Amino acid sequence: MIPNYTPTNFIRNIIEEDLKSNKNGGRVHTRFPPEPNGYLHIGHAKSICLNFGLAAEYGGLCNLRFDDTNPSKEDVEYVESIRADVRWLGFDWQDREYYASDYFDRLYEYAVQLIKADKAYVCDLSADEIREYRGTLTEPGKDSPYRTRSVEENLDLFERMKAGEFPDGARTLRAKIDMASPNLNMRDPVMYRILPASHHRTGDKWCIYPTYDFAHGQSDSIEGITHSICTLEFEDHRPLYDWFLDELNIFHPQQIEFARLNLTYTVLSKRRLLALVEEGHVGGWDDPRMPTLAGIRRRGYTPEAIRNFCERIGVAKRNSTVDIAMLEHCLREDLNKRAPRFMAVLRPLRVVIDNYPENRVEELEAVNNPEDPGMGTRKIPFSRVLYIDREDFREDPPKEFFRLAPGSEVRLRYAYIIKCADVVKDAKTGEVSEIRCTYDPDTRSGSAKSSRKVKATIHWVSAVHSIEAEVRPYDHLFLKPDPDDVEEGADWRSNLNPHSLETLKSCRLEPNLAGATPGMRCQFERLGYFCVDPDTSEGKLVFNRTVTLRDPWAKIEKGQKKG
Ligand code: ATP
Ligand code: MG
Repeated sequence: MIPNYTPTNFIRNIIEEDLKSNKNGGRVHTRFPPEPNGYLHIGHAKSICLNFGLAAEYGGLCNLRFDDTNPSKEDVEYVESIRADVRWLGFDWQDREYYASDYFDRLYEYAVQLIKADKAYVCDLSADEIREYRGTLTEPGKDSPYRTRSVEENLDLFERMKAGEFPDGARTLRAKIDMASPNLNMRDPVMYRILPASHHRTGDKWCIYPTYDFAHGQSDSIEGITHSICTLEFEDHRPLYDWFLDELNIFHPQQIEFARLNLTYTVLSKRRLLALVEEGHVGGWDDPRMPTLAGIRRRGYTPEAIRNFCERIGVAKRNSTVDIAMLEHCLREDLNKRAPRFMAVLRPLRVVIDNYPENRVEELEAVNNPEDPGMGTRKIPFSRVLYIDREDFREDPPKEFFRLAPGSEVRLRYAYIIKCADVVKDAKTGEVSEIRCTYDPDTRSGSAKSSRKVKATIHWVSAVHSIEAEVRPYDHLFLKPDPDDVEEGADWRSNLNPHSLETLKSCRLEPNLAGATPGMRCQFERLGYFCVDPDTSEGKLVFNRTVTLRDPWAKIEKGQKKG
């Protein structure tokens, strides 16, 4: 099943060649192999979309495999979050949920097989000594004095390592390859280490654990993975994985490396994300400013937008950084189609319409989504006292300011043209506390007489009808496109944006938003896309700003099409 509609890339080319030559009997089997030591982020989404996407495209299968070889950093909380995130992105591994720890017995057997073939030995050097003996990129390493142990002695020592006879770190099992190899990974890498740690799945059964390098390739082999897709930093590990598979003489998946995703204004290393959480720079793994899938889901991102983004960025062999504006563009494109519109006032300024009857309420008709007439219309109440956003009024307007100012006119969305007649100020602070206006009854939107035009339209809510909400208009977590762009001696933390979280407590929303529940997404007209945060409770509505409406990427894309 070779589709002809998708743009091709080098991985698709490899798979299609393999299908043509009937390698693996025409099977395509991939896997997404996270280590459960943190939450998944947008970079992982690229890998998930790629692995599950390719399998679906070629009628193959994709496994979810937890590469859980390092019990000291792993946790079931992470396993559960990873499952939820992959599902949320829209992918299904059916019954193929595997764990490297399921293969610990097999891996132990493989290790014994290599010892018997004199291809592995027990080494008594400490971690520091191993490093010393390893040499450098320009100098060859030195053989370990334990390299020449007999097969019998190695078998005995390895079994006793497993039995827990030696202290933590006292011995390792190493592959016997080549201490002079130009590839450092081939200089007798460690296969097993003693680690008296409880494992989240195997409990206290093991006190020796395989290294990632000894577990990963064999796990792929055991599962019959045909195309083992990973990021570029594993290119140098490939000769080692090949060596293990060849020496063990077991099924040999093909490893294919691609460039990892980097995003501007974002860090995508689990170590750093963990630091952000543990040091309290954010509220948790699902803080809406985090690039984790849990975070951006809470922020209001849709799985469709992320999948579309991953398809558009494509895959390459060279590392690069993607402009976060492109991710946000994909999000706007999706939300624009599906998000219902509402009016909300974030920084309320009271407006009284002096010539509007005191007790009158009009129900005005508003369009739910101009992009989709099928979404219908709704009624919004209009009355004598309104709120508008403070930003839409200036006492001393600059030349190009066409919104409300003393003596000037503006259209209220779906309603009337109003004119500012007077400004009321707080006696103590001097701050504008209210503006007095008049309305022109002949200008009601949609009425036959409404043809009169003014330069600007602003949003509003009716004061008595509006409901209160807290709104959090998030900004990027980092100040600079490259968080590593720091002064000497400082680290990436110095680029954290101190204003990334702002909380506006007394926002006013149109009454149609009453009862909105967490996860609900919408557009606040003129302000951006927002979604209801899980912090919402009875009597307290909380909205996150998902993204603003300004789309710098749309301009870039237009320019690219022209140029
Ligand atoms: P760490 O950041 O701690 O090195 P990791 O990000 O590699 O860890 P894993 O759990 O090993 O985390 O990743 C699972 C899979 O996701 C791997 O195949 C990895 O190559 C891929 N992956 C991780 N980060 C990215 C990224 N930024 N872009 C694309 N793929 C990624
Ligand atoms: Mg990794």
